Amino acid sequence: MPTPEPPARPEVLKELAALREADAPTRGGRTFAYVYDPAVEGLDALAADAYRAFADVNALDMTVFPSVARLENDVVARVAAHLGAPGCQGTFTSGGTESVLLAVKTARDHARATRGVRAGELVLPATAHAAFHKAAHYLGLTPVTVPVDKDTYRADPAATARALTPDTVLVVASAPSYAHGVLDPVTEIAALAAGAGVLCHVDACVGGWLLPFLRRAGREVPDFGLTVPGVTSLSVDLHKYGYADKGASVVLYRDSALRRHQYFAHADWPGYPVVNPTVQGTKSAGLLAQAWAVLRRLTDDDYTALAARVADAETRLLTGLAALDGLRVLGAPAAGLVAVTATGPDGAPDLSTVLHLADEMRARGWYLQPQLAHGLLPPNLHLTLTPATADRVDALLADLTTALATARVLPPATPDPRLTALAATLDPDSLTDEEAAAVLTYAGLGPDTGTPDRMAPVLALLDALPTRLKERLLTEYIGSLFQI
Ligand SMILES: *Cc1c(COP(=O)(O)O)cnc(C)c1O
Repeated sequence: MPTPEPPARPEVLKELAALREADAPTRGGRTFAYVYDPAVEGLDALAADAYRAFADVNALDMTVFPSVARLENDVVARVAAHLGAPGCQGTFTSGGTESVLLAVKTARDHARATRGVRAGELVLPATAHAAFHKAAHYLGLTPVTVPVDKDTYRADPAATARALTPDTVLVVASAPSYAHGVLDPVTEIAALAAGAGVLCHVDACVGGWLLPFLRRAGREVPDFGLTVPGVTSLSVDLHKYGYADKGASVVLYRDSALRRHQYFAHADWPGYPVVNPTVQGTKSAGLLAQAWAVLRRLTDDDYTALAARVADAETRLLTGLAALDGLRVLGAPAAGLVAVTATGPDGAPDLSTVLHLADEMRARGWYLQPQLAHGLLPPNLHLTLTPATADRVDALLADLTTALATARVLPPATPDPRLTALAATLDPDSLTDEEAAAVLTYAGLGPDTGTPDRMAPVLALLDALPTRLKERLLTEYIGSLFQI
């Protein structure tokens, strides 16, 4: 029997295109998380062509492929001109998570080398991105979480100061935070870190590129970059408001002496001498090339005009939300990210309404990202605004109005009390795979059920579970999506 011919090029591409049909749209301004659409004609094609031109170049070795060093120096120089200080140094990475991981590793190794710290601690506002907890987990550090101000959702400098110990290796502030889009008091936090002789990282992953252009467009924006005394490193994602394709971020350090702690070198094996600035070894230079091309194509004036569109979308959205009874914006959004909670009859945030509202909006073709309660911080829906969403604000507000009316009269999304009672008896650390799978099936997330149309019952259950159990079940669920 001859083996069947593989499909020809058009069929292969058609198969791929078909797989995207169930995905949320990445262009067109209806998906309010994960994607950043500048709505600039031809930019996607430019990024794709630039990727293709460097797809097979290995960025592992810039002595063999000198173009890699040139591209990276250009990209980092543009970012440093935007947010850096004289003498600062940086690295191009695959995304915010990698930039954060590297900044934390740098701080850990710096504290080891200069202060002899062995069991390091990471001081984080409660609103710091989960990537810092991941970094602490990977790098053997203890995260010390500091509650944020319960009215502004901003980091609390006095509480941060009290959390510092001789083992602190890094203090973090966000510009802005992902969850609520508010700016932490960077100047105060950096000053207290400097006073204690501790490094300070500004997580400007989402806002770092946008904020200076918002300022140029006329908004008042406080300083938050490496020019602020005490700030020693900063992360900024180009695959967010830089509008590069996914896989593009930069981490900056105040000088090369600090950045040196980020590098890994190994000459004690029989293969080639290894120097890896980042986590990966072999990696495509395509991601770097597409980011370079997008930055080359868009001038500062272009980015300023795009920032003005985001600001306009934000202003109109906030005005519209303020006029809607039963919705409340959390904190003061500073850079295109808005967190809005839905209130119940008593005026307090109401989880069930929040979750139903997300489902109702999804049924109307919008993706708003549900965020569960955390400590004193209420459950809410997160919206990332982009230039493409600017044209959609009025339609969004109209659908929010009807969706909210529906959400409020639906039966409350509350977890089955038998399930929460059962869950309370489970120890996440000794739960077997079978037990975890049984709970998921009971919750409607069993194998072969696909993603539920309505997430409210699932998220309401998750909300009721203790954190560790939540994490265990989420792990099991995502694992079940990757069973072959
Ligand atoms: C997006 C983001 C990150 C993590 O970045 P990824 O690109 O998703 O890996 C970290 N911090 C903040 C504030 C972010 O918005």
